[in-house]
Amino acid sequence: MEIAEIIDAAKRPRHVGPNSFRSPPPPLFSLSLRMERVSHPPLPHFRLHSDPLSSGSLEWRPVSCRACEQERPATYVGPVVAAADLEDALCPWCIADGTAHARFGVEFFDAELVPSAVSSDMLEELLTRTPGFHTWQGIEWPVCCGAPASFLEPVGAEQLRARYREVEGPLIGHLVHDLGMSGGALHALIAALDRDRGPTAYVFRCLACGTLIARIDRP
Ligand SMILES: [Zn+2]
Ligand SMILES: [Zn+2]
Repeated sequence: MEIAEIIDAAKRPRHVGPNSFRSPPPPLFSLSLRMERVSHPPLPHFRLHSDPLSSGSLEWRPVSCRACEQERPATYVGPVVAAADLEDALCPWCIADGTAHARFGVEFFDAELVPSAVSSDMLEELLTRTPGFHTWQGIEWPVCCGAPASFLEPVGAEQLRARYREVEGPLIGHLVHDLGMSGGALHALIAALDRDRGPTAYVFRCLACGTLIARIDRP
């Protein structure tokens, strides 16, 4: 139960009847007890997508997982590349241990958007045991130091400035050199970045050298 619901429930009129005046007042500690009950189990660690809750690919929402056939407290809401209909139907534990892939052949990122330099081991980890993330048209997964960088989150202009200021220079370099952009159009694009409406910047970090890398995609 969410805190707002607990507060709403507390505000609702209690049963009114002949004995209602005998009801003891609600104990003051009930709120904290209830909050303990909604604490969550630890999520699996994904090397190449470190915080899928913040990035929007996982939600604390119960799912009847199609892979392990159990009720699990977190739902994967990112993209699925699969023959079966698995949208919002898998738990993160079955992604992490490969159960979902083994059972359905599902992948969580478009294999064509991974550079060919990535080794087959790392490709398998990225496609079959790492939660994906939604983009607009699809972006190539950046590679640094010979390996896929770890995805952090989608951001707009405000979050880019606040949290990843150091990546702005390299991002402008990427737009100029790789995409041939310049001048006003380039600055307008950076200013228009928006996490939810797009264009959106996707931020990654190299696990070897720590460099931040950003890519842009638009609706
Ligand atoms: Zn599962
Ligand atoms: Zn690197």
